[in-house]
Amino acid sequence: MWPLEALSEPQLRVFVVPHSHMDVGWLHTVQESMQVYVTDVYNSVVEALTLEKKRRFIVVEQEYFRLWWDGVTSDTQKGQVRQLVAEGRLEFVLGGQVMHDEAVTHFDDQILQLTEGHGFLYETFGVRPQFSWQVDPFGASSTTPTLFALAGFNAHVISRIDYNLKEAMQDTRELQFVWRGSRSLSAQQEIFTHVLDQFSYCSEGFNWDGEAIFPGTSPNDMYLQMQIPVTKDNIQIFTSFLVRNALTRATWFRTPHVLWPWGCDRQFFNASLQFANMDIIMEYINSEESELSLSVEYATLGDYFRAVHSDQVSWQVRDHRDFLPYSSDMHHAWTGFYASRSGLKGLARRASSLLYAGESMFTRYVLLAPHRFLDPAWGLQQLQQLRWAVSEVQHHDAITGTHVPRVGDMFVEHLSTGMEGVHKLMASIIQDRSPAHSGPEPGGHFAVVYNPLAWTVTTIITLTVGFPNVSITDESGHPVLAQVQPSKEMPSAYDLHVLTTIPGLSYRHYSIQPSRSSQEKTGEPEPFVAKTMQFGGRLRRSARQVGGSLVPVNNDCYIVFLDLDTNLMHSIWERQSNRKVYMTQQFMEYHTNSDVRKGPVSDNYVFTPSGAAEPAWEAVRMEIVEGPLVTEIRQYFHRKVNDSEPTFAIYSRLARSPQGSDGELLCHRIEQEYRVGPLELNREAILRTSTKLNTGRVLYSDNNGYQMQRRPYRDYKSNTIARNYYPMVQSAFIQSRHSRLVLLSEQAHGVSSQGNGQVEVMLHRRLWNNDEWALHDGLTLNDSSVVHPVLWLLLGSRALTSGLRQRSRLALQHRPVVMLRQLSEIVPRGSGSRWQEAVTLPSRVHLQILSIPGWKYSSNHTEHLRTLQKDRKHEPKADLRRVLLRLQHLYEVDQDPVLSRPVTVNLRSVLGGLGSVVSVEERSLTGTWDVNEMRRWTWSTRDPHHHRGPGSLVLIRPRVPSQTPALPLRPV
Ligand SMILES: [Zn+2]
Repeated sequence: MWPLEALSEPQLRVFVVPHSHMDVGWLHTVQESMQVYVTDVYNSVVEALTLEKKRRFIVVEQEYFRLWWDGVTSDTQKGQVRQLVAEGRLEFVLGGQVMHDEAVTHFDDQILQLTEGHGFLYETFGVRPQFSWQVDPFGASSTTPTLFALAGFNAHVISRIDYNLKEAMQDTRELQFVWRGSRSLSAQQEIFTHVLDQFSYCSEGFNWDGEAIFPGTSPNDMYLQMQIPVTKDNIQIFTSFLVRNALTRATWFRTPHVLWPWGCDRQFFNASLQFANMDIIMEYINSEESELSLSVEYATLGDYFRAVHSDQVSWQVRDHRDFLPYSSDMHHAWTGFYASRSGLKGLARRASSLLYAGESMFTRYVLLAPHRFLDPAWGLQQLQQLRWAVSEVQHHDAITGTHVPRVGDMFVEHLSTGMEGVHKLMASIIQDRSPAHSGPEPGGHFAVVYNPLAWTVTTIITLTVGFPNVSITDESGHPVLAQVQPSKEMPSAYDLHVLTTIPGLSYRHYSIQPSRSSQEKTGEPEPFVAKTMQFGGRLRRSARQVGGSLVPVNNDCYIVFLDLDTNLMHSIWERQSNRKVYMTQQFMEYHTNSDVRKGPVSDNYVFTPSGAAEPAWEAVRMEIVEGPLVTEIRQYFHRKVNDSEPTFAIYSRLARSPQGSDGELLCHRIEQEYRVGPLELNREAILRTSTKLNTGRVLYSDNNGYQMQRRPYRDYKSNTIARNYYPMVQSAFIQSRHSRLVLLSEQAHGVSSQGNGQVEVMLHRRLWNNDEWALHDGLTLNDSSVVHPVLWLLLGSRALTSGLRQRSRLALQHRPVVMLRQLSEIVPRGSGSRWQEAVTLPSRVHLQILSIPGWKYSSNHTEHLRTLQKDRKHEPKADLRRVLLRLQHLYEVDQDPVLSRPVTVNLRSVLGGLGSVVSVEERSLTGTWDVNEMRRWTWSTRDPHHHRGPGSLVLIRPRVPSQTPALPLRPV
């Protein structure tokens, strides 16, 4: 510890870390940014660093760096970069494709985007990033320290945390700590964390290259940020500013080292001008060193942390709590973006799930040669394109919905193109392996249904067909249990529900044909046609005392009671614990101010409601569509009594699976799909579920689909509603002593508990205000779309729901992929049927990824470095025989007496059918390093408890026979 008042203070070292914050899409597209400044940043930085030995720079976003490296650089520049990297003067920090958001992203996607960037860096330079730089995401999740520790990082940098908390941490000099992000891994995967002080990542007053000039930039903007050049006459102004600033900052830290980030958004596109001026300032300060008792130096993040690490301070420990939500001041609670651009949030997750399915299908079905129709290199290219698009949208201005609409179109375009490619790939794989199938007659469809999870799944898939009389048979020609009913939003179409049971990582074929007519019976059983009951409209205001007239809808696990006086849900009887929970649901809206002169406004980022939420409807109409497989409750909410179209709807489904089928998960969920929109202007729409559970207003919500956080309701001086909002990436629940109500979501939303027994989910936002800055840049949220989010409700005892929640969330995230084709398109009977052995993991273990990354380097580090030094005339080929496998233990330590126990997985059960395993290597989380050779720094803490935990990643190389080992997995 560095005593502030000591007489002989050690000399203060100021580490000036040059950087440029380059958003991968915010106000400008990736292409525009490349043209206007990104290319110039890398070109000019490499030139400036090559000219002067003492200069340094950190490189963050790999999407930009790769575009520059692959598309712009000359051989000379490539050589210079290699030299600078080898000397540690150009340092890659974070190393993901983007700087990902931490609130609304799923941790599978965070790992993906890091794996993409890290793979490139290792392949190209033989290095792995060792320090993070999460300086702009809007709040910090405790998933991040865990992932970064597993990826081999030595220190983690964050910045945007609650303003009150940051101030307090400055005062007590607690901006640096050792963070144990996971309850289960605790000290095994802790990481040293540095919170940037109140000046954050921008250094005002030290920018000599002005503003990047995009088309349409006004001359005023261009010179706004630009400083006058440093001369003999004005140097005192610059130096005294820097010195005073550094001394102030030093008082907030425990070691005599100051991290002084130099740069801001879109800077250093004229790096020689930047360095030329700063060189003079630094020389001047250092010449006065003895007087000032302070020295300045250019540094990378690594230089700074090495100095801090050598200081032998005993650091305080922070537990698994996160830094969400984030408020930048008393009027700005950044909880609006949890639900901004709901449509993009949904698309991003659907793309991620499709990629997951495509990866395992490619791995399982392409390693088996020969392929009649499929070129593996083309297949890998389709996957890589979607990996890149899914990585990109994790950026903190992408999935967050905090970009301009034009940039949003770019994200959608990249995702859609990538999805199309993977759809094509999956169709080609099926085509390649089509069994000799006695194809149905023309006019019908052929459906292939792939289960991407590594367990057998029993579920109902829904297909839309144009005719009510159909017959459906499976691959053996046997009729299949199905139900047909009029489609909910397309009057001329029909929903065909089909019960299916599919083994892990396998697919099934169905053929669907129109029956000639219902009279002309062929003797084959046809799907049951569901019957619909209509209930007339009920007005909200004239609803009588509720509960007088109830209609039950049931399956083997629940009875849902609907109140005919209101057409709303009344209660749910949960059969296993024999408990009835009073529960109702309705759509409500927060209204927001649109005039910045009249008070704070809501926007893409912040949520600032004018008051409590109000019901958003006048009347509700109900239909119950009942069949043997599924009963669907359709509630249509009309904003005005006379509106012909409902603005909101809830479609709730209860499924029945026949005796003997493994339908435990299917039975224990009430599936809900909603229709929301178009909203009126300045409305933020929520679904509020109110129960009589005594919850004490405590909400539980997840960090990134990983671990749960406890969120007690807090009263604040201002903005209390908004500051009690949290991100919900996949799960949330409320509970009383006996019952727990779990909500599982398909995409990110905002979630809150504003009253005892209540949970509300923000589903959609439409906003406009007259803030000049936002209007100037076009950053508005006038989102008039209709969205269809999905939630699954699980109700039961704590024990029951903790056993079901994890597998159910995965069942929702990775629903079977249905590929529906006209029969004529199928090229049948190629190589004949070649079924792969099904995969069934223990129910506590999730197959997090099974893929062929296409790495082009040796997994032996020394060998790889040797190859890098040789001439690189020949582009190395992707190794298709190296498989990446990640397995996750689904339960946290102490979460459940049985489920939390360690479990052993026989790798043969996962890798069966891929060929023989040559070797198995346990690698760091992003695959770049052998965990046995990964030395992370240890930091001394007040709790000196150190031992390394297991990695979670295994690599295998199939083909040659060898023993297949067993892999022990512990709770993470
Ligand atoms: Zn940013």
